[in-house]
Amino acid sequence: MQQLFRQLPSIDALLKQPQAVELCQKFTHSSVVEQARILLEQARKQIIEHQALPDFIADENAFFAMLGEKLQALSEVKIRTVFNLTGTVLHTNLGRGLWSEKAISAATNAMRHNVALEFDIDEGKRSHRDNYISELIQQLTGAEAACVVNNNAAAVLLMLATFAQGKEVIVSRGELVEIGGAFRIPDIMAQAGCKLVEVGTTNRTHLKDYRNAITENTAFLMKVHTSNYHIQGFTSSVSEEELVALGKEYNLPVVTDLGSGSLTDMKSLNLPAEPMVQQKVAAGVDLVSFSGDKLLGGPQAGIIVGGKAMIEQLQQHPLKRVLRCDKVILSALEATLRHYLFPEKLTDELPTFHLLTQSLDSLQHKAERLKNGLSKRLDSRYILQIEPNLAQIGSGALPSETLPSLAVTISAEKQSDLLALEKAFKTYPSPIIGRFAQQKFWLDLRSVAEFEKLIEMLRR
Ligand SMILES: *Cc1c(COP(=O)(O)O)cnc(C)c1O
Repeated sequence: MQQLFRQLPSIDALLKQPQAVELCQKFTHSSVVEQARILLEQARKQIIEHQALPDFIADENAFFAMLGEKLQALSEVKIRTVFNLTGTVLHTNLGRGLWSEKAISAATNAMRHNVALEFDIDEGKRSHRDNYISELIQQLTGAEAACVVNNNAAAVLLMLATFAQGKEVIVSRGELVEIGGAFRIPDIMAQAGCKLVEVGTTNRTHLKDYRNAITENTAFLMKVHTSNYHIQGFTSSVSEEELVALGKEYNLPVVTDLGSGSLTDMKSLNLPAEPMVQQKVAAGVDLVSFSGDKLLGGPQAGIIVGGKAMIEQLQQHPLKRVLRCDKVILSALEATLRHYLFPEKLTDELPTFHLLTQSLDSLQHKAERLKNGLSKRLDSRYILQIEPNLAQIGSGALPSETLPSLAVTISAEKQSDLLALEKAFKTYPSPIIGRFAQQKFWLDLRSVAEFEKLIEMLRR
């Protein structure tokens, strides 16, 4: 064993090799030394465990090739591009939707340059970073002002912390939602230091339930959009309009967490209806919150809209400073909202709407091209078919509301061959992510953006 140890090169000797000099130039001296040490440590371990030199020590070129690969891997970004063929268009695990070109260029502009984020150029004085969004929200929803934070979960937390700390908030038992990723209304209430007052039952809540729960200590009446489930059968809930009327009687604000929300009528695009922000504003709701990266089609953000006085209070709360967005997000959000000033072009310009509204004819065409591309890559163990499928909007939008779609399905005699294929798909330069169901592997065409790049990758 001692003899084997003696065959290990010293770091100094290694660093004198021309390959090492090259690597040092590309990756820095210190990183080369560190990674070389790690490789030598591995070699020592192998000598102890197996009484043998690893191959990469026996061959100097192999050693430097391995060192180069390790350094290259360290320099590469691990959040990689993937192709989403899961059938869930806004897949949270895959980063939700893509931004519009206008949003992307607004964001990169803000990255590369100084921008007038909190500066009023005309007046030559300081302004507020949410002003651009606030003005657009006024035009689009009729609300007086807006406050922008990191995401809608943060928006809910900020509304509760600002107006209900140490006080009671009345919510229907039918609306105590849990969204993926441990966002539960009762937990957020506890975090904001307010007391949740549950009223009604799971399936039925009446106006009198809210009325009976109002005390001296009530901060506001709250509605939460049940975005990821549907209570069916013997049900009843109280509308925003009714709650607003009750709130007026007792001088209490009404607050709505819309979840996704929408600024355009989904029905007119033949998509499942989603409550519209402007409808809630028109109904007299005092504060409405919704996400920037669900159906809105923009960057991750939470938008709160409402009257000037209440929005101003939100802006003054110390948590707002903690939860505020940066120039990149605010630029992309502004660009996204500007699309809504030209509603007929939304399906062309917002990738999310484009994907959701694709016709079955165009999906059929894509399915045939994908099947074709795959058939050239897969051997005879695999059977390819085009089958109808049900896609989902995703991101909390009702999973029970599905969109007609098409998928290329792959089946094989042996399940192990299918598992091997799923693994192989993950080794592509941009991994292909699909879904197992009914002993087949499903590749849904509705959720995949950048389809031409997918075909191009399969060709290579
Ligand atoms: C999705 C959702 C949230 C959380 O929104 P994020 O922007 O993902 O933080 C909160 N409430 C409801 C009702 C939701 O659907």
